[in-house]
Amino acid sequence: MKTYGHFIHGKEIPASTGETFTSLAPMTGEILGHAARGTEADVEVVVTSARKGFLYWSSLPPAERERILLKCADQVEAKYEALLNLLIDESGSTIIKAKYEVLYTASVLRTAAGEVRRLYADTLPNEKPHRMSMVVREPVGVVLAISPFNAPLVLLAKMVVFPLGAGNAVIAKPSEETPLIAIEFAKVLHEAGLPDGVFNVVTGFGKEVGEPLAKHSGINGIALTGSTATGVKIGEIAIQSMKRLQLELGGKNPLLVLNDEDINKAAEIAAVGAFTHAGQICMSSARILVEKPNGRAFAEALAKKAKSLQLGDLRNEKTAYGPLINQRALDKVIQHVQAAKDGGAEILTGGDVHDGLIFQPTVIYNPPQSGPSWCEETFGPVASVTECDSFDEMIAIANESDYGLSAGVLTNDLVRGMTAARKIRCGSVHVGAHSFQSDPMAPIGGYGMSGFGRSGGKYSVEHFTELKWISLELGETPRPF
Ligand code: NAD
Repeated sequence: MKTYGHFIHGKEIPASTGETFTSLAPMTGEILGHAARGTEADVEVVVTSARKGFLYWSSLPPAERERILLKCADQVEAKYEALLNLLIDESGSTIIKAKYEVLYTASVLRTAAGEVRRLYADTLPNEKPHRMSMVVREPVGVVLAISPFNAPLVLLAKMVVFPLGAGNAVIAKPSEETPLIAIEFAKVLHEAGLPDGVFNVVTGFGKEVGEPLAKHSGINGIALTGSTATGVKIGEIAIQSMKRLQLELGGKNPLLVLNDEDINKAAEIAAVGAFTHAGQICMSSARILVEKPNGRAFAEALAKKAKSLQLGDLRNEKTAYGPLINQRALDKVIQHVQAAKDGGAEILTGGDVHDGLIFQPTVIYNPPQSGPSWCEETFGPVASVTECDSFDEMIAIANESDYGLSAGVLTNDLVRGMTAARKIRCGSVHVGAHSFQSDPMAPIGGYGMSGFGRSGGKYSVEHFTELKWISLELGETPRPF
């Protein structure tokens, strides 16, 4: 069984305590490897390495950073099989989701490379006639990227490569559920020519090593993709030391089905939105609002589709989804479904464990709108459906959430679709599609408790730059004394 170290300054090194923790395959319970269990004692060494990496990387001409990031993309593709298999095993992803994740990671790298030469800023028309002013962008320094378990390669990649594109160095602290894929990713980028110290990975638990890293004065920015509860903690730490912050947090995303839409087609789309990766997707279509009179008919069509899904065999291209990440995640799903039942909702299909950590695809009709299955992030294969009397009511209910990450609107009526897109308070709204959409160029992020800042394309790259005003006196300026 392989033991992995942290990846610091181009090589694997054990935790300074010598301690490790296991990475388990959620599908089989098999131990996949042991990872270094980081603590505060590891922080100084990784920050020192990253500060050196930053000095070197930020001094390179943009064309050189672009060249290396493009080579990194090629290397991810060259290591496709190894990354794919580890991703399937460690995160319980189906082969379809894992393939998408590896290829998307290469695409994110190429997008970041494309942004390197586009760090435009401005010259300013000044009040003073003798002054010339310009604004330049500079990298913020060393960025800490804290990543979640659910898409452990691509979400990590997004938080790493866009700051790299801007000239920052990055230290990653991946989820304790998926440490190995992060170490393998760092090795792949290093093999492609990313210099020592520019991208380091420290594995371990949030409180034990994530917090000390976040607090360290050698860290200038933090990107977190994770739960809202963790976001609040990290936000407090970041503000105390004035670090640049990007938070991509939870969602309870609405999917609106307007009454001109074909019910069966809507059910097919909604099933993908709600059940992909067992609903362990921040943008999962968890709250489905159907315009009257189609509520019941739509919910039944969705239940029929849900019953037909193939579960479990991760390497079968037809499998819809596999296990939840751990027992705690499964218990939360069970508790949310039970609360909906207790509140008088109908369970049209599912509602129980299928096998091991796999939960049945579940459709809840008319859940109590004050209960956890409607208000809180379930992060499981559970779609809650409710019927609404009018378009205005759909918008109002869609916006009755602390979250505001993503939404979908299924309709053929462009005017009502675009009206909904403008009125729904979410970071993204997709007309003609479910709420789980991504694009490396797009600004991904949320309103309200779904976080702030946007990741993707130029938005991420710019987020991790400082704006500096530089002025030049062109002649003798009048002096007041
Ligand atoms: P989590 O918040 O439990 O953990 C995320 C990361 O934060 C992990 O690396 C964890 O070790 C670290 N962490 C936890 N406590 C910490 C602390 N006190 N200090 C420093 N680091 C700490 O989230 P998770 O269960 O891994 O992921 C699922 C969550 O992520 C869901 O809420 C989901 O919606 C969200 N998510 C959001 C997006 C998005 O784009 N908005 C994308 C994917 C996942």
